[in-house]
Amino acid sequence: MAPQRPMPRLDAAKLRQNALTSIRLGVEDFERCRLNGDAGGDPARALSAIRNLFAGVLLLFKYKIATCVDNPEDAAALIFNPPEVLPHSDGNGGIEWVPAGKFRPTTIDVATIQKRFEAFRIEVDWAVINKLQACRNHLEHLHPAHTLGEVADFVAELFPVLRDFIQTELEELPASILGDAWQIMLLHHNFFVDTTEQCAEAWSDACVPQGMEPWLEECKCPQCSSTLLAPVQANLDAADTVESNDDIFQATCMACGHTTLIAPLMIDALERAHSYDPRDGEEPSVESCNLCSRDTFLIDEQSCLWCAAELEYTECEICDEGLRQEDQDNDGLCSYHAHSYEKFMRDD
Ligand SMILES: [Zn+2]
Ligand SMILES: [Zn+2]
Ligand SMILES: [Zn+2]
Repeated sequence: MAPQRPMPRLDAAKLRQNALTSIRLGVEDFERCRLNGDAGGDPARALSAIRNLFAGVLLLFKYKIATCVDNPEDAAALIFNPPEVLPHSDGNGGIEWVPAGKFRPTTIDVATIQKRFEAFRIEVDWAVINKLQACRNHLEHLHPAHTLGEVADFVAELFPVLRDFIQTELEELPASILGDAWQIMLLHHNFFVDTTEQCAEAWSDACVPQGMEPWLEECKCPQCSSTLLAPVQANLDAADTVESNDDIFQATCMACGHTTLIAPLMIDALERAHSYDPRDGEEPSVESCNLCSRDTFLIDEQSCLWCAAELEYTECEICDEGLRQEDQDNDGLCSYHAHSYEKFMRDD
């Protein structure tokens, strides 16, 4: 038998303790980043809130993996990065796969945690975890004040994931292992859910064009990146509609109080999703609508998300090619066939 390879030591209890400490620090940072300056608030803490929460969640996941096996050496083998396995000749024309070197002192990353979870049938909402990771990565490049709302939305979304994981996978009570930090997360989560519902309800009175509703949901406050945007009461009181009064209809951010026109945010969100790179030979898929003049006409769908305008002629009578707004004066022909037809009439 091959000699036992030395394995970095793993202390599962320590892992659990570090996880809980990191989550508590994250929540503390979160609270501090939201207070205003006079009360000792510090927006720069937003980034460390996300860093600590992310690190804490990953440590908790590793702790769970470590507790899935009885033998501490097996636990360490699951958590530390394994050596690379390389092929060797067995001297008889075959190969043997042999680990090269030792287990590394680094621990597994998010992608490997996900694989271990699959192997042990541990369930978690990876969509939220991946969003947390993406959030942490892009926050590193932004000014902290512009991210407070986004961080707040994120803490709210993390709450149910953490709650389910601690209750179902660790079989513990979040309130008893996280103490005050848990109460803060709970209150914040409830505030977020209630406010999201109130906003959605208020928008339902604002006559948002149906085609634009999904893009309303994508809107974020330009000041703090929160998704908690509500229609301004004065617009509602005046019976303004987003559909017809988009030049004056405003939204207020429930996280930071910033107020701004809602239509450009919706159109920006639409444009972001339809962005294209002309250098790659890509072409725009959204254009200005001939009927309502808003940049909300989907070329492939042949309709406008804002005013629901549709094309009179949708495909060329001769070649079946899809027609665009610019082809509508050609009596149902594509530009090529309209041109050929004209030429034919002239020559005749
Ligand atoms: Zn805001
Ligand atoms: Zn239109
Ligand atoms: Zn044609």
